Amino acid sequence: MIVVKIGGGKGLNLAGLCEDVAALLRAGQRLVLVHGGAETTDELAAALGHPAQYVTSTSGHVSRRTDRRTLEIFEMAYCGQINKGLVERLQGLGVNAVGLSGLDGGLLRGTRKDVLRIVENGRQKVLRDDFTGKVEQVNRGLLTLLLDNGYFPVLTPPALSFNHEAINVDGDRAAAAVAAALHADTLILLTSAPGLLARFPDESSLLTNLSLADLGNAHDYAKGKMKRKVLAAQEALQGGVSQVVIGDGRRPEPLRAALAGEGTKIEG
Ligand code: ADP
Repeated sequence: MIVVKIGGGKGLNLAGLCEDVAALLRAGQRLVLVHGGAETTDELAAALGHPAQYVTSTSGHVSRRTDRRTLEIFEMAYCGQINKGLVERLQGLGVNAVGLSGLDGGLLRGTRKDVLRIVENGRQKVLRDDFTGKVEQVNRGLLTLLLDNGYFPVLTPPALSFNHEAINVDGDRAAAAVAAALHADTLILLTSAPGLLARFPDESSLLTNLSLADLGNAHDYAKGKMKRKVLAAQEALQGGVSQVVIGDGRRPEPLRAALAGEGTKIEG
């Protein structure tokens, strides 16, 4: 079983990814796809007059400010445009794709953060109307039901809180939770970089083979969104996934290249 996560960035080779998915499925591989959509959400939010805001938590993590209106826009982008775009593309390649958010069938569940402590202009502030959280449970039965019947699951945030509210969750970490729940042997995180770089943005500093222990200090050189991918890799490996590949989602045959050992391979 392989779980693949692709971001929502503009430079990603979605056509190549879908062709790789179709080829791997034809060869009998069991696969699940999880996607993001931050860039489309930002564009849509601006167009709808509710521009994206990012907040920094007291622990230094940057996340999308997700008030109720932002959550609606987030769903339009993730569950609407991006999810349905991927399903349409895959159906065109003969893949019986089924798009599901974490809400559907309670696929991804987690705790909503009841307060978010942020730092704004050097001052601490508490937000109580933010809809964010972290995936803690995956409805494995629903995924195996689909997989066993020849459907290809295409999954997207948001998740469902234990109080039945939609919550914005990180897609990389959601993919890690899905991979662990399905006892996947491989999690592939496709990104807008050649892999994990020791000296970002110097592409010649690509790290090719790492162990879980090597990730201990990766938070020193993984910046921005790469931090979340490192965290997701750690969570997947700790959850029993044998290997995680952080691969280039912009190149031709992005998925097949990652499986062939291109990018950063991290073993548990
Ligand atoms: P997503 O696929 O989730 O939308 P991105 O591809 O934007 O996210 O996230 C990873 C980004 O992190 C890379 O594109 C790169 O710009 C940045 N980055 C920061 N530090 C590193 C690093 N050490 N190695 C590789 N990329 C890094």
